[in-house]
Amino acid sequence: MIKRSFFGFTTPRIQYLPMPGQVTTPAPLKRPDNVTLLVPCPAGDVDDKLVQIGDHVKSGQKISLTSAPGAYGIASLSGTLSAIDRFPGEAGREYTAVTITAAEAETLDNAFEDRSEPTLENAAAFLACAPGAPSFEPFTEPDKPIHTIIVNGMDQDLLVMTAQYTLAFRMADIQAGIKFLKAVTGVENIVLATPRDAMHGYGEIGASVMTMDATYPSGLPKLIAQKVLEKEIPNGKSFQDMGVCFFTAEAVASIGRAFSDRQIPFEKTITFIDKQGNRSLISARIGTPIADILKEYQVSLEEKDRIIIGGPMTGHSIFSTQYPVQPFTDAILLQDHGDIALTSDYPCINCGDCVRMCPARIQVNLLVRFLEAGFYEEAAEAYDLSACLECGICSYVCVSKIPIFQYIRLAKHELGRVASEETATEEATDE
Ligand code: SF4
Ligand code: SF4
Repeated sequence: MIKRSFFGFTTPRIQYLPMPGQVTTPAPLKRPDNVTLLVPCPAGDVDDKLVQIGDHVKSGQKISLTSAPGAYGIASLSGTLSAIDRFPGEAGREYTAVTITAAEAETLDNAFEDRSEPTLENAAAFLACAPGAPSFEPFTEPDKPIHTIIVNGMDQDLLVMTAQYTLAFRMADIQAGIKFLKAVTGVENIVLATPRDAMHGYGEIGASVMTMDATYPSGLPKLIAQKVLEKEIPNGKSFQDMGVCFFTAEAVASIGRAFSDRQIPFEKTITFIDKQGNRSLISARIGTPIADILKEYQVSLEEKDRIIIGGPMTGHSIFSTQYPVQPFTDAILLQDHGDIALTSDYPCINCGDCVRMCPARIQVNLLVRFLEAGFYEEAAEAYDLSACLECGICSYVCVSKIPIFQYIRLAKHELGRVASEETATEEATDE
């Protein structure tokens, strides 16, 4: 069975845009009247003995919704909990939205001061919602030891400059973060992946530096991991299976700042791209409604304009300006309704552009036929769905304007959901 394209492949020539020369530090957004934290926990599981509407919270305070280790948010505003609601997230993920209405005065919580010894337990219990969303879960599975940590200093999409800013202006925090990461995880082999020419004059930073190509999608984790490991990641294997774990540069800077200052940071750096394509860096509290950013920049949206979270290749649209900034929101892109490339119901004409451009060398023209029909398992089996890097290039080049990338995301989500349900059923049967 042919699983790979036999046409060979042409490296896509879409360049990352470097930061304009005069970028300074991000413009801080004014203190919001309310913030909404999205906690990865179904609303039905919330334990009202732990959290209730009317509770007072301080900035930096941990808000646990259940006794499960990951079901918490960090208050980014001092105030009162004014709502706790179900929030259906992207691709069917269930969150609970916890809204804090601002108090007049800002008070910092000091619980982390007592837990600021750099240990894995403290990092996992307090820092998972810090800017950049550092995840320590890969270090909790002893049968899959991590031997290499990759700090990703590459922006994940075109036009985005959040990682570039972090490398250029926050190297001291990154250096501190690398030191604490080593202490917390025991992993000594840390590799910082950066754009070419991003690292000059920093001296010893505690990590080896690997420069990546300026062509999109060279900054996506799978391509970086392959370069670091000097081998392809076999189909179906995760980074963890390969002993590798990723943190964004901003996540590492957050770890450095948290353990150095003994305070959990909650200001997120965001690249804001307006409808004319102008790029600005903003610093906003996690949980700030997008509406506050639009108001600050005096942007008015017309019917059918789009708000996209992320960049132009891989971002997803949101449909409410009340959607909050999240720990991993690197970019907000506005698109004028006149500029939106609409999808169509034209059939694939077998032009082959998607196949030639796919960096994973997938036969996308055949894959898409299975995906359109909802045959996800067959697509995964016959056409290497799991090898997809989720770069979005196939959708970008498709002359028939087929939303291939959206089909791929949906298929991966569905397959993941079915696999989790099967595992849960097996575990229940074993008990
Ligand atoms: S999204 Fe996946 S299938 Fe499409 S071009 Fe990128 S790697 Fe290939
Ligand atoms: S780019 Fe679109 S039309 Fe061309 S082969 Fe791929 S799916 Fe078919």
